[in-house]
Amino acid sequence: AKKYGGNQIIFFASEMNVQIKYKFELENYLRRAIEKKELFLLYQPVVDLQTGQINGSEALIRWNHPNLGLISPMEFIPIAEETGLIHEIGKWVLMEGCRQNQEWFDKGYDELFISINVSARQFLHPTFVEHLHESLQYSGMDPKKLHLELTETGMIDNVEKSIAIMQEIQNLGVRISIDDFGTGYSSLSYLKNLPIDTLKIDRSFINNFTSETVDYSIVKAIITMGNGLSVKVVAEGVETYEQLIELKKMNCDYAQGYYIEKPVYPDRFIEIMNNKKFQ
Ligand code: C2E
Ligand code: CA
Ligand code: CA
Ligand code: CA
Repeated sequence: AKKYGGNQIIFFASEMNVQIKYKFELENYLRRAIEKKELFLLYQPVVDLQTGQINGSEALIRWNHPNLGLISPMEFIPIAEETGLIHEIGKWVLMEGCRQNQEWFDKGYDELFISINVSARQFLHPTFVEHLHESLQYSGMDPKKLHLELTETGMIDNVEKSIAIMQEIQNLGVRISIDDFGTGYSSLSYLKNLPIDTLKIDRSFINNFTSETVDYSIVKAIITMGNGLSVKVVAEGVETYEQLIELKKMNCDYAQGYYIEKPVYPDRFIEIMNNKKFQ
């Protein structure tokens, strides 16, 4: 038994080494991913529940490494945050997302907004507002069509600084969304003081909500609160027709999720835009 235990430890240690090595490798590859053009954006349609029409998208980053294949943002965004690479990657995402949305605008899809994810560390860095400026100027897009998705965690430790940056962003005309809403710790009084335009209800509440569940009550409460605060409400993770209809009945403003479409390439996005209505 003693010997067995010893082997166990060796096994775990080497397993850990492999993980650390892999992470280290990813970090090194990630440093060069932008210049090697391995990063790209997919776009997930967002539907206006009143009209049933797609009126915007969320940009979601992907990394295609020549040997490792497709790597999920859940895996490499945390590494980018730890290493500070998030500033450069985040800048690229802003640039590319704004460029794409303006390309669509120029093609006549002039109502579309684009929603871009911003990490807390990226958002709190002095270069962020600068990068935002540059992206708007380079693309020439209407700032009102740009929505930035922030999470409550990360802002909670820096409330005053966060509010100041959010105000600066809103002064540019850019909109602010709170992502994964309901999973953080923010109290309602805190929310009242944040300059926000949109709440995105976390998909964990949408997943199994039917009229009998606690999640149903939570979703209903968030929508009612959103209406009261005059902010738009988006439900994410909508996977069924029933969920879509229920959310529409609840006066939720927008819906996003696999039922509508998964994140797709730009060409496919326009195809869906032209051919599909959801109601
Ligand atoms: P998120 O911002 O909460 O994005 C939503 C995630 O849910 C996306 O995963 C999307 O593909 C997935 N999703 C959408 N609809 C459904 C659905 O109906 N069911 C289910 N089960 N999932 C759905 P993805 O693309 O893997 O992104 C994961 C996370 O990585 C994002 O979560 C976000 O936190 C982060 N991320 C993605 N792109 C960026 C980026 O450009 N910058 C930063 N900082 N973070 C990003
Ligand atoms: Ca998001
Ligand atoms: Ca989310
Ligand atoms: Ca999420």
